[in-house]
This record gives sequence, structure tokens and C-alpha cells, in this order.
Amino acid sequence: MQRFPVARPCLSELEERYALDAVRSGWISSQGPYLRRFEEEFARQCGAATAVATANGTVALHLALAAAGIGPGDEVIVPALTYVATANAVTYCGSRPVFVDVVPETWCLDPEQVRAAITPRTRAVVAVDLYGHPADYRQLAQLCRRHGLLLVADAAESYGATSDGEPTGRLADLTTFSFFGNKIITSGEGGCVVTSDEALAARMRLLRNQGMDPQRRYWFPVVGFNYRMTNVAAALLCAQMERAPEIIAERERVVSAYEAQLADVPLLSPQPVSARVRKAPWMASFLVGPPGDATSRDALARALDREGVETRPFFVPITELPAYRAGQVDHPVARDLGRRGLNLPTYADLTDADLKQIVERIRAAVAIIHAPLTR
Ligand SMILES: *Cc1c(COP(=O)(O)O)cnc(C)c1O
Repeated sequence: MQRFPVARPCLSELEERYALDAVRSGWISSQGPYLRRFEEEFARQCGAATAVATANGTVALHLALAAAGIGPGDEVIVPALTYVATANAVTYCGSRPVFVDVVPETWCLDPEQVRAAITPRTRAVVAVDLYGHPADYRQLAQLCRRHGLLLVADAAESYGATSDGEPTGRLADLTTFSFFGNKIITSGEGGCVVTSDEALAARMRLLRNQGMDPQRRYWFPVVGFNYRMTNVAAALLCAQMERAPEIIAERERVVSAYEAQLADVPLLSPQPVSARVRKAPWMASFLVGPPGDATSRDALARALDREGVETRPFFVPITELPAYRAGQVDHPVARDLGRRGLNLPTYADLTDADLKQIVERIRAAVAIIHAPLTR
């Protein structure tokens, strides 16, 4: 029986050619033509002035916050439901992440609760485009402007999405991306920050390169980091960017196929999408069972694993993790989504026949978990 992984990179002869070219040129470290090309083209795609390439998406977040001067004593508002890196980046700054619940309509930050969480110590909001759906940037930007807060978008999962027709990358002061192996485009490990604020961009370039003065070698006016991307990774990304329209279209085909073919399965509800956005097809995301159902998702995942279909549970809310749970209030929406959410295999190379098979196995698994226990 063929097993289907939950994710797989979509690599072609073009990635091979560019990576080989980088290797043969000798420029395999953190300088080289592919890096310049990647940063220019990525900024252009995002409609932003500048892109700063980084070693991964986690350090992209840290670099963005550090460049903006977020530090000890500051509070940064983040969603309760996200990948742990969003909160960790705040912690690396010596600041306190303040967790706010998400809304059931988008699975992203609730602007009303963000407003209520603002204190005199609040310096920034990091919104996360969870499972490819952009957060409510119209409301968040207005709120941040009114309170003088920095707005950062963690767009690790939403490359290619738009909100009110604007691409991810233009919706916040700073936008971070990840190019980890399971993301929409990938270099294995990789990340990026885009911004149209040239002063912040210059600060990020300084901090990314160990804090070295660009005019004076081995003169380090500040404590920086080594957060650079390699030219080999950039070569892979140049190929992935060229092929992005095709990769995104294929992933959209996969997500739509699940949504259409599983529409009559009452146990499963698809990711909601706001009329104002085009979500990025990162991972087909469904909720299993009615609100409050704390067992069906795991039962279905186990049954699917036996059927040869690998799935992924949603993130555990950060506020339930040992490092962050002390003194937290309940975030009921994040808690419920974290218990019911399931990602299905999503990658460009899944054929329509593969999808038909996976859907059949999902139907079989649903029937198994619904069968009376005595049978
Ligand atoms: C993947 C991801 C990151 C971190 O990216 P890495 O490249 O793995 O460091 C950050 N935030 C979110 C929401 C992610 O999904």
C-alpha cells in the first residue's frame, strides 16, 4: 500500500541547475549572486522595498524584533495558537509575550482582544497568518497606528496570500517568512524579513552579520548575530520563486479537491476563508467533529495512519506549553482548534488519482471511528 506523507518539497531540474551552479562557482557561503537576486526578486514580489534573507524563519522573527529595539521590560502581543517560534522570538529579546485568543472565523488574532491586552509596556503585535490565512491587518494596523505599536506579520505559512488585494509583505511594518522544507517554497532551511522601512532594513543587515560595521572590518559597534543565509539556499529559492505560480496553483488544486470531495462528510469542516483574502495553500486544514470534541481528531489521525495517510494535528496552543503556561488565562478558541484541527497531505506532486485514494481512505477511517464499539 502506498503511504502518503503529509508534506514534500516540490523540486525540479531548475533547483538542481541553480544549486549546482552555486557549488561550481565556489560561492557556497553567505555571499554571492543568488543571494542578491533572491533578495531583490522577493522584495519585488512582496511589493516591499527590501528583503533581508536569513538562515531560517525563527531568526527572521528575532531579527525583525531586535532591529525594532524590542527588549527587556517590553510586552509583545502574539496569538495563543501558533508555532512556538513566534513566542520564542519574543522571549529571545528578553521581552514578555502576551497571548491573545484567535477568532473562529479566521483562526487568527482577535483585534478586539488585542485592544484589551494593550498596556503601557506593549511595544509590538506579531500577527500570524495561521495555515495560510492572513490575519485581519486592516483592523490590526489601525489599532497599532493609534497606539504607536510596531506591527509584525509572521507570514511563514502565507507566502502568496493576499488581503484586500495586497500581497503578504505589504500588510505590516515588517513581515517574516520561513522556507523550511514543508513550507510553500523552500530551501530546506531559510527565512526572510521584508520591509519598506530602510532604517529597519539597515539595522537588520547590521545585526544579521554579527553587528559588523559595513564600513570597517572587524569593528562591531553592537552585539549582533550570525543569521545569514547561504548562496546555495538562495539558489534553491531563486528556482522556487520562478516556479512559485505553478507550485501555488498545484497546491490550490490539492486543497480544493479535499474541500470538494469531503464536503459531504459531516465530521469534517474545512478552514473558513474571509471574503477579503486569498489564502495561501499551505496545508489543507480541517476541523474534526463539532466544537468541544476532544477525541475524534486523534482517533481519525490514528485510523488514517493505519490506512497509510500521514496527517498533522494543529499546533498545541502556546499557553499550554511548559515554558509559557504559568499564569495564563484560558483561550477557548485556540484550545478548541488545537484539539480538533488536522492537516492533510498537501504537496504539489499529489496527482488527482492520489487525492482520490486519500479521500477514499479518509472516508473509510471516518466510518471506522464512527462504528459502534461493540461490533
Ligand atoms: C515555520 C514557522 C516558523 C519558523 O520557521 P523556521 O524556518 O522553521 O524557523 C515561524 N512561524 C510560523 C507560524 C511557522 O509556521
